[in-house]
Amino acid sequence: MRIQRWTPAFYSVLVAAHAGTMLLPFPRRMTWSYAFVLAVLGVTALLCARRAMLAVTHNRPLWLLLLGGLLAKGTAFILLFADSLVHHEGTLVMADPTFWFCLSSLFFVSAAAYDPATPSLRWASVADVAVGTLAAGLFYLSTRQMLASDATPPERLMLFFDVLDLFVVIFVGIRLLGTRRADERRFYAVLTAFMIIDAAAASVHNRFVLASESYLPEVLLSAPTAMLGIMLARRRTVWMRGFRPSAAQRRLSVSLRPLALSIAASLAAFAFTQVQPVLALYAMATVLLVFTMRGTLIAWYQLTIEGQLRSLRRGLQHAALHDPLTGLLNRRGLFRWLSREYEPARHARGLCIALIDIDHFKLYNDRYGHLAGDRCLEQVARALAREGDGMPACVVGRYGGEEFLMLLPHVSAIEARRFMDVVRATIGALPQDFDGQPTHPVTLSVGIASTQGRDWPTLDRLLRDADVALYEAKALGRNRVVVHEAIRVA
Ligand code: GH3
Ligand code: MG
Ligand code: MG
Repeated sequence: MRIQRWTPAFYSVLVAAHAGTMLLPFPRRMTWSYAFVLAVLGVTALLCARRAMLAVTHNRPLWLLLLGGLLAKGTAFILLFADSLVHHEGTLVMADPTFWFCLSSLFFVSAAAYDPATPSLRWASVADVAVGTLAAGLFYLSTRQMLASDATPPERLMLFFDVLDLFVVIFVGIRLLGTRRADERRFYAVLTAFMIIDAAAASVHNRFVLASESYLPEVLLSAPTAMLGIMLARRRTVWMRGFRPSAAQRRLSVSLRPLALSIAASLAAFAFTQVQPVLALYAMATVLLVFTMRGTLIAWYQLTIEGQLRSLRRGLQHAALHDPLTGLLNRRGLFRWLSREYEPARHARGLCIALIDIDHFKLYNDRYGHLAGDRCLEQVARALAREGDGMPACVVGRYGGEEFLMLLPHVSAIEARRFMDVVRATIGALPQDFDGQPTHPVTLSVGIASTQGRDWPTLDRLLRDADVALYEAKALGRNRVVVHEAIRVA
């Protein structure tokens, strides 16, 4: 279907016919005018229903709320149309259409309050719609009172409607600022554009009606809806494609919404104090209660999320710093410890580093399989951790592959060597088996480097020294502990 092609032409003809009828001396021109407005509204409502059907499921309620607003507006015009059949020149404003105009504004505000994509705002949206309904109700009752009294100047009534329209424009605009997804943004862009055009047209129309005898301003009642229809028929809104609110704008939008609503409800309640002060007071108390409950809900949600994020962060931090196979610190965890503790160790009793490598581990893997190799690594890691517990402030980690690192603060190179010999003997004596089958015992080669008895080395230097000592242990026939010569000389 080429709906987006024919709609501009169709609406142009309809609005031009509306203007032509208003310019020519037809009898019952108000009746004709309302008929044109209703025709435009009807087509636009159909296009809106089509858009709702085409929309993705999560966006459908938005288009349906817009449709609800259009239908409420249509009902108001049906009443005006019926009234014009009796009063040829039309009555200025009637209470009953006002109810439907207020209802249509409420539909638009509800569409702007609807925010199911932000979980914390799901229930807050309900509170917002409740306060919006209260504000719209108070507004309608105040307007009714004004209409009933002959003393109300029409300018005051117009100002009243202008304030309502302005609020809807501001509220919908704030919501546009908080849109996250492109499809949602399209809806709010269309709604905001329509609200601005419609509010401006209604304001100008009302003033012309008072100031001039011409019927031409009546076109201002159909033209904005025709523009909405053209926007609804388009496959996409090209003019909003580049607009993407920042995270700060989205935060601003979410925080401004309850503020805007409470200001609107307070103003409506204030206006209503002149009609029924006690009821106005009750209304204010209700707004206060609803928004306090809204705040409680958000705070509850926020604290729950904060707790979840904290434990998630702890889990991620643990995963980032530990080796999944052995549960020991991984290389990153070891370096994190060293980056914090290495320099302070200078003023304490120094630090020894023991680089531990399982001998002929490739052979072990080749003979018994990688799974057996993994079990062996776990067993060695457990034994290293157990032995490390006996040393003050000892830290054990998996340096990589079948290599482990032991950080031994507060001990001399001789004490470290003696300790590592005990560890080597303990691990060598561990009974090894896999799947019930005995495997051969593993031996360790260890290279030790110490900060003692020399100028304070850099961490890189110390690690390199431990590596050199380990190579020496391998070269000397494995299954032994070698202390780097920098210490032996000292
Ligand atoms: P050397 O005595 O010279 O250290 O000989 P090696 O065989 O122990 O040393 P090499 O560096 O040649 O081989 C290390 C082996 O460790 C090779 C690799 O498959 C094995 N390895 C490294 N990480 C793992 C692991 O996570 N699981 C298992 N099963 N094996 C691993
Ligand atoms: Mg190795
Ligand atoms: Mg090895």
